Amino acid sequence: MFRPLGQRCMLRSVKAAIISIGTELTSGLTVDTNSAWLALKLAEIGWDVGMHMTLPDDQTAIADAVRLAAAQSDAVLVNGGLGPTADDLTRDAIADAVGQPLRRDPELMQQIERHFQHMGRPMPDSNMRQAEVPESGSGIENTCGTAPGIRVASSGAMIYAIPGVPREMKVMFKLSVLPELAATDQTTRTVVRTIRCYGAGEAEMAEQVADLMTPGREPIVGITAKHAIISFRVIAKSAAAADADVAEIRRRLGPLVFGEEETQLQDAVGQMLLEHKVTVSVAESCTGGMLGTCLTDVPGSSAYFLGGVITYAYDAKTDLLGVPRDLMMRDGAVSGEVAGMMAAACRERFGTDLAVSVTGVAGPGGGTEEKPVGLVWFGLASSDGVSTHKRLIGTHLTRWEVRDRACKVALHLLRRHLLGNSR
Ligand code: ATP
Ligand code: MG
Repeated sequence: MFRPLGQRCMLRSVKAAIISIGTELTSGLTVDTNSAWLALKLAEIGWDVGMHMTLPDDQTAIADAVRLAAAQSDAVLVNGGLGPTADDLTRDAIADAVGQPLRRDPELMQQIERHFQHMGRPMPDSNMRQAEVPESGSGIENTCGTAPGIRVASSGAMIYAIPGVPREMKVMFKLSVLPELAATDQTTRTVVRTIRCYGAGEAEMAEQVADLMTPGREPIVGITAKHAIISFRVIAKSAAAADADVAEIRRRLGPLVFGEEETQLQDAVGQMLLEHKVTVSVAESCTGGMLGTCLTDVPGSSAYFLGGVITYAYDAKTDLLGVPRDLMMRDGAVSGEVAGMMAAACRERFGTDLAVSVTGVAGPGGGTEEKPVGLVWFGLASSDGVSTHKRLIGTHLTRWEVRDRACKVALHLLRRHLLGNSR
């Protein structure tokens, strides 16, 4: 099925090209997240991605790109443009590129008809276009939408067309394309692991594992920071080699590591609250409900999250949490004293084991020399009493970033308390 790997080629891994289709992508209206997702999945099975292309809904441009990609790759993954409308041109473009007419595939016709029956809707005639595949090609069933995929061989490459809708694209790729690509002869197989950390800066964490990050070392260890979460990525040739590095990084960074792969801080905290059988409530000011949103993003959070209050105005802080009005009139609402009172009252009102409070200056206006934008106070109330914590989250951040970071600090305080350590 694939171009035989000759003597010279034995040392190289199999090569893929990714082509994303859609004028909404080339115009910048939609960010092409499909390519990145596909590239990561391909890397995991040892495929090297040699080319990314993004093209508008233009048949000639798509056909030229597919031809070029097929000449230089072992597999070409085209995503998008498989819909039933006039601007969906991937099907015709691939037929052009491989120099074959389109034929209607009876099995695909049935699949599309079944999909409409299942949805209880009449099928527009235009949908029958979606049953067309190049003469020597075959269809790929779409288990969660109408647009079937296409597979066809040309110029020694296998060309796959899959949907543009991210959810459908991922399901079809995993079910039908990935197994075929993974079965190909290859010289390298890659295992990718991600370790997620919070609680210290990127440079400080990198320093602790600097020797593992030496260029040319195998496995490759890389670091990235996004919204204050630091991720280490281990790319190894075997699961055993990846496991060893993951274990070593975990050992060196200790409690800074909160999870792996897609784990969020709130998942880790939720898991610990569940294990410790501890309940929590929140009193929020500058985060305006974001902290409650984070905690309840986790399925099953009702087992430990009892509720929260958004006390934005002074009156709300006074009426709902008993913070004395004259205290705030004198010193403002962003102080350790106010944060502590908010947490203590919240814990009492909700009857939870723990309560966290957040009060700060989210910006972009409202900052003073004494209380600049990004200054946030936190309170943590438990059966041990109330502790308060001050953080200057950053003076150059946007309003959303200050609020996001404040939620992470609050989650980290909970995690630290549950771990029973001070880091
Ligand atoms: P299909 O091939 O499944 O018919 P399409 O490209 O014709 O897909 P569109 O209507 O263009 O479908 O896009 C459907 C949705 O998928 C839109 O919300 C669009 O923003 C999103 N989408 C399409 N391509 C991408 C991509 N490469 N990355 C992220 N989102 C995408
Ligand atoms: Mg499109």
